[in-house]
Formats: sequence, C-alpha cells, structure tokens
Amino acid sequence: MKPNFTQKVTNWGNFPVVEKEMRSEDSFKRIKEFVLNHNEVIARGNGRCYGDASLGESMFSTKKLNKFISFDRLNGIIECESGVLLSDVLEISVPQGYFLYVTPGTKFISVGGAIASDVHGKNHHAEGCFSEYVIEFKLMIESGEIIICSREENADKFWATIGGMGLTGIILTVKFKLKNIESAYIRQESIKAENLDEIFRLFEESDSWTYTVAWIDCLQKGKNIGRSILMRGEHAFQHELPQNVSKNPLRLKKKFEPTVPFYFPGFVLNSLTVKIFNLLYYKKQSKKEVKSFIDYETFFYPLDFVKDWNKIYGRNGFIQYQMMIPKNKGKEGIKKILETIANSGNGSFLAVLKLYGKENPQAYNSFPFEGYSLALDFKVNSKLKKLVEQLDTIVEEFDGRIYLTKDSMSKSSLTNYLKNVQSSKFVSLQHKRIINNNS
Ligand SMILES: Cc1cc2nc3c(=O)[nH]c(=O)nc-3n(C[C@H](O)[C@H](O)[C@H](O)COP(=O)(O)OP(=O)(O)OC[C@H]3O[C@@H](n4cnc5c(N)ncnc54)[C@H](O)[C@@H]3O)c2cc1C
Repeated sequence: MKPNFTQKVTNWGNFPVVEKEMRSEDSFKRIKEFVLNHNEVIARGNGRCYGDASLGESMFSTKKLNKFISFDRLNGIIECESGVLLSDVLEISVPQGYFLYVTPGTKFISVGGAIASDVHGKNHHAEGCFSEYVIEFKLMIESGEIIICSREENADKFWATIGGMGLTGIILTVKFKLKNIESAYIRQESIKAENLDEIFRLFEESDSWTYTVAWIDCLQKGKNIGRSILMRGEHAFQHELPQNVSKNPLRLKKKFEPTVPFYFPGFVLNSLTVKIFNLLYYKKQSKKEVKSFIDYETFFYPLDFVKDWNKIYGRNGFIQYQMMIPKNKGKEGIKKILETIANSGNGSFLAVLKLYGKENPQAYNSFPFEGYSLALDFKVNSKLKKLVEQLDTIVEEFDGRIYLTKDSMSKSSLTNYLKNVQSSKFVSLQHKRIINNNS
C-alpha cells in the first residue's frame, strides 16, 4: 500500500488551512522523483509566510535540507542547504563575530524562504534586501535538472527566483555573505512620537541610522493619529558596551521562553483588549527618549520570545496586511489607512511602520520600493473581508502594492507584480488565486 502523505497544513496566520500532500526528502535524487511524479509542486520552508504562498496541491518541505556545507570564517561567506533556518545561521555565526546583513522580524525562517520572498528588515533604506548578499544558489527546475544561479550564471533564473515566491523551482543550496560585528548588542534609541507628522519627521531625520522601525497605535484618531514609538539602532562596538557584558560581547545568556499553550478563544482578542494593549505599550516608556544597549534578539526578534504567539488570535486565525506606498504620497496614504482602520473597529494588535530605500531594479520581483510600509495583524472575522477591500482600494489609489508573502485575500492587481515565473509545475494556492481573480 502506498503511504499517505496527506495532512492539514497552514502557515503562520493559521488561515487558510489545506489538507494536501506534503513530503520532505534529503537527497536530491528523491526530490527530483517527487518533482517529476507530481503535476503541481510548491516548495515550503518553515511556513512563516502568513497566508497561502507556500500552500499547494503537493508541497515539498525543505525541513530535511538542513545541513551546513561550508563557513569561510575569514570572509564571512556561508553555504548551506535551503532548509537551514536563520536562527541556525546566527547560532554559529554570532560567536564568530558575524551577523546576517538582512533579517526579517523573526529568525525562524529558512534560507530558501528568505530568497523566495526576498525578505527585508529594519535596514532596507541602508542595506537593501536579502538578495543583495546572495552569491549563488542551486535551483531544481521543472525537468528535475539542477542549475547554478548567480549574477553571472543563469542570471535570468537568478533574478526571477529572487522574490519569485517558489514559482521558478526548488532552491536546494545557498551561498551568501555575512557582516562583521564586534558584539551581539545593539545601541538603541527609542523615541515617542505624538502623531503622524512627528513620526514621519523622525524617520527622515534618522536616515543615517542603519536600523529604524516604528510601532504605531492604529486605534488613535484626530490629532493623535499616528501616535507611535520609533526605535533606531546600530550594532554596538565592544568599547561602548556596559561593563557587565563587555568581557564576553559575542555571547548571550540563555533566556526563558514562554509558550502560548493553546489557541485562545475567539472573544479574548477584541477591540477593547487591543486598545488596552496599545495604550500600555505607549505608556510603558515614560520618557520622550530612552537610550539603551539591548541584545540582538530583543531588538530584532521581540515576537520570537513568545513561542506560538500566533495562537492568541484563536482557531480562525489572522492575516497580516502589509502594504507599501510611494514616499511622496506616504503620509497622506498612511493617514487614510489609519483612519479607515480606526473607524472599522477592527483594531490591529500589532502595527509596524517602516521607511524603505530605493529598490534594486534588477530584483524586479522584490516587494520593496522607496516609500512607507505599514504591516498590520487582523483577526479573521466576518468584518475582515470588507475592511481588506477598503484598504486595497486606498492602496490602489496611492499607487501602492501588497507584500505577497503576507497576503491571502487582497486584490490581485496589488499583488500581481511578479514577472517571469510562469510554470505549469511550480504552482501555489496563492498564485492560482491571483490568476483566477484576474481572469
Ligand atoms: C513574526 C514574523 C515576522 C516577519 N517579519 C518579516 C519582515 O520583517 N520582513 C520580511 O520580509 N518578512 C517578514 N516575515 C515573513 C517571512 O520572512 C517570509 O514569509 C519568509 O519567506 C518565510 O520563510 P519560510 O522559510 O518560513 O518559508 P515559507 O513560509 O514556507 O514559504 C514562503 C515562500 O517561500 C517559498 N519557498 C520556501 N522555501 C523555498 C525553497 N527552498 N525554494 C523555493 N521557494 C521556497 C514558498 O514557496 C513561499 O512562496 C515575517 C514573518 C513572521 C511570522
């Protein structure tokens, strides 16, 4: 009897859920057999995209592609299989004085997923996307052949795969560069902004900082709209550090990691609890400006601290709505988005505002371009579809776009910026949805 590999699969938002075949293999020969024996395949990393991007008819999970191949400690160049997580990379590289050039807000994503979404971090304005530091990768294409892709070799496939959402094939191994650091700490300044004018001014003034990001209270209205806290940071040099950590600057103490043990009942997170959370978050910093040294985990990955935090949204799940608006229309567009959310009563527990730098024109499938982006979490409920439609209309009006790796229900015109990825073999649920909505 043939083994049954069908199972329930979902991504970080727990929405949507599919019951389809998922397999993982560690030999390239067996991966080829899987690709050739299935009509529709999509690669899957660690399922940290929020929506339906790594769901499909037959999913190939890279969980077993988890080996390091080499680490050139002199030049900070690492080569590993595509299922290796960024957390694994940091574990071996930080004690050696190396950090990721670009990291998203969670370290629990795979290196393959980092390329397929061409992820960005708090330093896009200064250091661009993940792809800037990728030297080459091996890609399994439709025929099962493995090709090397770099800026010189198979450059067309290289650029189509960057931000290509798994639609060009399966990334098997990746070689990429790391950056030098002297310590595992960040020199941080966090500044309160009373409204949108102030936070936009602070972003522009903080342009010379490598890392900037703002948490924004999306339930404020009127003169308080845009109330937020800007965090800006730099990797700390050893000589700057407080004495208690300067002796061992590249090591962090193990922390207690709480877990959300079960799905919260649907009523726990409502507009009142979201309001209280946002108020407490703003009030917890009593001074206008606070300077501190914090470890890199607290600075880059505050959400990773609570394992399975996505369960607080309940069994119906949640979506993350992340959109981007060109810089010259940023303030007006973001204001309209915030007003719409505040009036909808469908508050976002977490809302993050970022300023992005210029796009890399070669990486045409990457999401970021010069402008402002807002990322918002919304619990899935009966009012959500209408809110997403309203937000989509505003994003369209301001010539914006939606980040595919977070999306599961937006207008296809806002997500349809992918080029050169047509394949009858590598197909995701998301791509089908976008194509169907278009036809
Ligand atoms: C808490 C949190 C914070 C986040 N913050 C950010 C952020 O700041 N910036 C940002 O850019 N993103 C952010 N993300 C999104 C996340 O970085 C991306 O969705 C990332 O691609 C997830 O990688 P994964 O390994 O989990 O891949 P999956 O979620 O499994 O897949 C994501 C996409 O990559 C493709 N893929 C995965 N592996 C391969 C492979 N080997 N070959 C080909 N295609 C592949 C899949 O087909 C799919 O299209 C965040 C996510 C979470 C949960």
